[in-house]
Amino acid sequence: MSQMRIPEHGTPAEAVLSDLCAARSDDADWRSGRTWSLVYFAGDEVLELAKKAYTAYFSENGLSPIAFKSLRRFENEVVAMTASMLHAPETSRGTMTSGGTESILMAVKAARNNARASHPEIDEPEILAPISVHPAFEKAAHYLGLKVVHIPVDADLRADTEAAASLLTANTVLVVGSAPSYPHGVVDPIPALAALAAEHGLPMHVDACLGGFLLPWLEKLGEPIPPWDFRVPGVTSISADLHKYGYAARGASTVLYRDADLRRHQFFAYADWPGGLYASPSMSGSRPGGAIAAAWAVLNHLGEDGYLRLAARVRDTTRRLLDGIGAIPELQILGEPVGSVFAFTSDALNVYVLGDCMTARGWALDRQQYPPALHQMVTPAHAEAVGAYLSDLRAAVAETLAMGDELASDGSAAMYGMAATIEDRGFVEEIAIEFIDQVFDLDGDPPL
Ligand SMILES: *Cc1c(COP(=O)(O)O)cnc(C)c1O
Repeated sequence: MSQMRIPEHGTPAEAVLSDLCAARSDDADWRSGRTWSLVYFAGDEVLELAKKAYTAYFSENGLSPIAFKSLRRFENEVVAMTASMLHAPETSRGTMTSGGTESILMAVKAARNNARASHPEIDEPEILAPISVHPAFEKAAHYLGLKVVHIPVDADLRADTEAAASLLTANTVLVVGSAPSYPHGVVDPIPALAALAAEHGLPMHVDACLGGFLLPWLEKLGEPIPPWDFRVPGVTSISADLHKYGYAARGASTVLYRDADLRRHQFFAYADWPGGLYASPSMSGSRPGGAIAAAWAVLNHLGEDGYLRLAARVRDTTRRLLDGIGAIPELQILGEPVGSVFAFTSDALNVYVLGDCMTARGWALDRQQYPPALHQMVTPAHAEAVGAYLSDLRAAVAETLAMGDELASDGSAAMYGMAATIEDRGFVEEIAIEFIDQVFDLDGDPPL
């Protein structure tokens, strides 16, 4: 890394702040709805409240519920409100975490330790999860010493439950389904997966990081949402992100358990530290009080009627997009998305080239694989962007058709096109690690 040091002399606050704000000029433009992932924007009123609440508790540390009784109350109330939204029984318990990944790590850790207690003979524990499940489960398995066994999906892109039954082994410690899956926005057959888990005395986790704060409101609006929450017998834990469709500040998620016993397996305590007795509920040590306060503030500010209003806006915007894309003969929506995320593919053109043509028009769409597809996550901020987006998409389809595969040796189309042809996925992972290495190096030149 090139030589860089803390400046010898400080810079006045105003100058630093102005540098800070100017630095974002090349960043993704989330506010105008041109970015179809990463930021969940429900308008300036909600954003300003979250910021004020965050700042009000900027210095407080959620590590100590004894020192900060207010944060303890906020966290318990956020967990209780989430539990009631998800129809959890009175016996349920939960924790606020820093995000979906931490919630999932905790659910996997609880399941692993639960198995250690009840099945000490298992030394190679397995998670049984659909191939479409979020990589946070692979990450949890990687960190916590488990293996993910993948359930194939049916033609409708939902987990194949018969295959699941045949893949369950004596080493399985957790069954997982998504509501909905991030890649295709479809809800796995949760009742069947949960019944399978229950039959074998196993816990079942539903990953509702994405849908947790959206599907309950869509259901109330009369949308046909398949069963997936604690009303389904055998579902023992659920992750639901506050910083997605909860519209809270980033750094806020929940993990809920049907009963206190399972949650206890998530906790950590150490009695022999010279620094004193140490006990902590989740992965993080220090926890930003601001994220807890902002989540509490936004839940109370929006209320059910606020979430219903925003869910209706997301639903209507998603419908307009699906109708518009459905009317383009070259493009096909994958599966039957139930909420706000979906992907489309094409038999007639290279969607990665199409993606590059959309990038050139200022739209950021995530690229997917198996099959090649472009991905969209719809938020209230996208309502105003639909018309311009669809007309650009139609133009980009025409442009892509006109140029054939010409651009495929270029841009992200080249990278994704090449990655798809490499059979050795370990090699592709090595390239990805090399990429991270370059990105987090001051002089790095990422291979993209
Ligand atoms: C976003 C997401 C996650 C991971 O959440 P982070 O907050 O990014 O850590 C896990 N599962 C699903 C379905 C998601 O959409």
